[in-house]
Amino acid sequence: LEWLYSYMIRLRLPGGFLTSEQWAGLHEIAENHSTGVIKITTRQTIQLHGILKSHVKPTIRDFNLQHLDSIAACGDVNRNVTCTSNPSESPLHQEIYELAGKISEMCLPKTKSYYDLWIDDELAIDRKTEEDPLYQDRYLPRKLKIGIAIPPNNDVDVFINDIALIAIIENDKIVGYNIAVGGGLGATHGNDATYARLASLLGFVDTEEKVLKAVYEIITVQRDFGNRSDRKLSRLKYTIDKLGIEGYRSEVEKRCGFTFEPAREFKFEQRKDRYGWVQNHEGKWFYTVFVEHGRILDIDGYPLKSGLLKIAETGNVNFRFTCNQNLILSDILEKDKAEIENLLKEHGISTYTDEVSALRKNSVACVALNTCSLALAEGQRYLPVLVTKIEPVLEKYGLQNEDITIRMTGCPNGCGRSPNAEIGLVGTAYGKYNLHIGGDRLGMRLNTKFKENIGEEEILETLDELFGIYSEGRHSEETFGDFSYRYLQTIK
Ligand code: SF4
Repeated sequence: LEWLYSYMIRLRLPGGFLTSEQWAGLHEIAENHSTGVIKITTRQTIQLHGILKSHVKPTIRDFNLQHLDSIAACGDVNRNVTCTSNPSESPLHQEIYELAGKISEMCLPKTKSYYDLWIDDELAIDRKTEEDPLYQDRYLPRKLKIGIAIPPNNDVDVFINDIALIAIIENDKIVGYNIAVGGGLGATHGNDATYARLASLLGFVDTEEKVLKAVYEIITVQRDFGNRSDRKLSRLKYTIDKLGIEGYRSEVEKRCGFTFEPAREFKFEQRKDRYGWVQNHEGKWFYTVFVEHGRILDIDGYPLKSGLLKIAETGNVNFRFTCNQNLILSDILEKDKAEIENLLKEHGISTYTDEVSALRKNSVACVALNTCSLALAEGQRYLPVLVTKIEPVLEKYGLQNEDITIRMTGCPNGCGRSPNAEIGLVGTAYGKYNLHIGGDRLGMRLNTKFKENIGEEEILETLDELFGIYSEGRHSEETFGDFSYRYLQTIK
């Protein structure tokens, strides 16, 4: 007998896209091999939990039959590449979606061991001699994340990535990308050498060929200069701070054989998803479903998972995922819209999406307890409960329609991006959180720890007090994050 091991499997889905056939396949795989919950992650992909050891290989094989893989979805390699999710945001979406795919392919480990081990039933012994020019014989010091944004929407939270690409648009064309480096939100309690950081602008490059080369060489510099003696200090952000942004840039430029131009102007205006129906420039329809913390399952009175399966079975829709853990039913033709609309209504999906509060729609939580072994506190199971208790406090001050971002993580690793929210809650122990405030709404400024290791009662009391001061003293149109940032300066 051995322990009853169970695993999580995460897909590699650059740009977060599945066809309706793949969704139906995923639904069946989740039923057959996991807890059944389909989880949309903050990196625009899907993971399944509770896969028993004997089901790991059958799960990966079943995914393979759907032309889906899990290669480099974890590990010290480039992870899933994210990009602005909603094609209706811009006619240029297809271009960045394809770029996300190209970057993902370019950064895949070259070994075929995955197929040996999981698909073909062969031992991977002969693979030792395979050449991998990017990862060579040592991979990266830690994971690496890449995101691509099309301003004015920062729904991907682009600056939290190790490598952030911001499309620069002139005369309705992408003329190149600003490249920023060194984002990453993870830290360790009690270790002041660790910190959350937003990416710093490196410069601008004008062709796709140069973007791919620059991304590649940014990774090789991290491979060669990253800290391999202390995993806590091994993300690219620490290498940037060790070499300095100028030092990092000159090493990348030397390897690229070209120089970066100065970064160009850009402006983000929002970070949230556009819920409900929108139409794109080709007349296709898109419906963004609010999925609380990305958990797709059937619960009493809300058969979300069954409804989505019925929608997939029409074959008239694609599935896209957002970094805010939501789902976009996409590419729907005018002639098919009514059928999808009826199914959304029949399963209560559109009603739910319409009716949830602004705070809930702007909430993100990581999995945390009882699934993540690093968790110190609850995340996705508790934030919905806490939001229900915060909603009346907001109403008391007439703030219920404010798009305040609230994010919770079960530890300081930052998977739910709590350091980059207007209200961030970082787990310290069971039932206890550090409360952070002062982050901005657009993802351009991190928050600051305001209270340490507090429980629910104190969280609610503190927010009650802050919302009261905010409703009295806010400037016109001032967001809660900007107000709290200003407030923090006054009480220093
Ligand atoms: Fe990530 Fe920590 Fe949440 Fe686990 S508990 S998912 S490591 S943030």
